[in-house]
Amino acid sequence: MLNFGLDIWDDGNFVIEEGKIALNHAKHPSLLDITKDIRERGYKGPLLLRFPHLIKKQISTLFEAFNSAIKEFEYQGKFYAVFPLKVNQYPNFIHSLMHVASPYGYGLEAGSKAELIIAISETPMGAPITVNGFKDKEMISLSFIAAKMGHNITITIEGLGELQTIIEVNSEFSKTSRTPIAPKIGVRIRLHSPGIGIWAKSGGYSSKFGLTSTELLEAFELMQQHHLLDHLFMVHFHIGSQMSEIAPLKKALREAGNIYADLKNRGATALSAINIGGGLAVEYAQHAHAQERNYSLKEFANDVVFLMQEISKNKGVEAPDIFTESGRYIAANHSVLIAPVLELFSQEYHQKSLRTKENNPPLVQELYDLLDTINRNNAREYLHDALDHMESLLILFDLGYIDLEDRSNTEILTNLIIKKAIFLLKDEDTDELKQLQNRIQEKYLVNFSTFKSLPDFWGLSQHFPIMPLDRLDIKPALPASLWDITCDSDGEIGFDPNSPLYLHDIDVTKDEYFLGFFLTGAYQEILGMEHNLFTHPTEVIINFDEEGNMHLDDLIEAQSLMDILDDLDYDTSKIDKSLKQKIEESIHIDEEEKTVLLSKLYLYLSENSYLKTIQANNDL
Ligand SMILES: *Cc1c(COP(=O)(O)O)cnc(C)c1O
Repeated sequence: MLNFGLDIWDDGNFVIEEGKIALNHAKHPSLLDITKDIRERGYKGPLLLRFPHLIKKQISTLFEAFNSAIKEFEYQGKFYAVFPLKVNQYPNFIHSLMHVASPYGYGLEAGSKAELIIAISETPMGAPITVNGFKDKEMISLSFIAAKMGHNITITIEGLGELQTIIEVNSEFSKTSRTPIAPKIGVRIRLHSPGIGIWAKSGGYSSKFGLTSTELLEAFELMQQHHLLDHLFMVHFHIGSQMSEIAPLKKALREAGNIYADLKNRGATALSAINIGGGLAVEYAQHAHAQERNYSLKEFANDVVFLMQEISKNKGVEAPDIFTESGRYIAANHSVLIAPVLELFSQEYHQKSLRTKENNPPLVQELYDLLDTINRNNAREYLHDALDHMESLLILFDLGYIDLEDRSNTEILTNLIIKKAIFLLKDEDTDELKQLQNRIQEKYLVNFSTFKSLPDFWGLSQHFPIMPLDRLDIKPALPASLWDITCDSDGEIGFDPNSPLYLHDIDVTKDEYFLGFFLTGAYQEILGMEHNLFTHPTEVIINFDEEGNMHLDDLIEAQSLMDILDDLDYDTSKIDKSLKQKIEESIHIDEEEKTVLLSKLYLYLSENSYLKTIQANNDL
């Protein structure tokens, strides 16, 4: 696996050139060069790189797929899209997104009051805003204020109570206003068809959201009574994220399409849109057998347009405009997390650590011989012999017949024999070999936090593509398991024999080695938690001008130690005072040294919490 499954997950966004992974864009800058450039400016620790050209690609691909399906089927409705803010609300992402999306009339979806404020302030006039999730009177009033500003805003009702609040707010606003402007109204339907995958709970009868058919009929009548039927604009559903198959979507589309047609035939004349929510999947797999998506965007778009066409024709209603709220698909590929490897934990198993004696115990001597003479033909037999000898030697140690040096030699020699055997037998794919790889895996200590940067790996075992930034012309040989720097044993990406990751054997005291974690742009940033007080890594936007020159913009450094404590509502001036006082009053520090220690202390307080140096001559 020299290319780390690149052709499965990268969608043509990267290339390997001269052994380094580079952007397949502009002058093909390598991620390693970009990383070094930023580090030379003094920013160490993990880095989050954002690539607006990749956001642009996702948006244009999405619009092209739907618009060409519309053309092909001569569909009468139009295509619109909004970005669901819950997927990534970070300003460096949202500003890049709104910038590259401006030709498309792309809008934002909000699921809370704070997100609604972002949507109202960032969405260009005329582009759609949709409001989902549970809403109180204030949130509904905010939507009315947005409509008054001139925004094209749709409130999706999730339950009858919300509709009643809309009726109430509408009559309050009508009293104080000469021009009765109200937001458009959408209805979220509770599908009977279930979703699929680990995020499937959004669909089905037990879903948290949406109106049952009985409630839908009641809502219709309520709107009729209160003269709001001419605001009923959209039918909405969302079947869950990272949809692995297309079949559940087709079922949901038939259900929603028939509801749309029925409501229209019942007299909802303003009803003109169907919102299919999100769910469009991203391919995160690095191994062909583990692929997560069995359909293409073209198939997805064609199915939506075709089914809506068919249902509208059959029911004799106008074809609806189609809205999507795809989030993961738009945001996932825009960011890459880059983290330095700090240390490898198999040093004890190096040949150089052997403490050979003049007279080794006979079984240890046998291990030496096995290691010397193992070859392709005898590898399996010698491997079994070595494992057997090790068992015996460990028993001899327990019984007091051999000493600690003998035991250490036993462990090193057996480990080296296993490694050699795996290498010699690498074309055979037996369970035994997989088990053994598990046993000799190399632990890479990496300067990042899985809790902060890959929470879906921690919580849901969602895989993200991982690969080194260079040495890609050298076959990596060590089965790797990654340790993050939190002191939590869950902060580990263990070696998975079914989807193995191999990395290079490196000496971090001599060489730098960086790992890239890809497709981290959706959900990971805001879900990330500050376990051990590791915060959002230093981030930067990588822009390109017309000539293809690269610009590093809007760098935001990871929070300093004091800012982190401030966020937790510690009184940082008190902490500051206490630290100073303790130095001042210590009987172990003389006057001159106080100034030195204080300045050191203040330097550390101004830095972030990721590791800086771990080995004497290694700056991380
Ligand atoms: C979360 C969510 C989305 C986004 O789903 P993705 O799988 O990220 O595309 C869209 N619509 C609604 C209502 C959501 O809750």
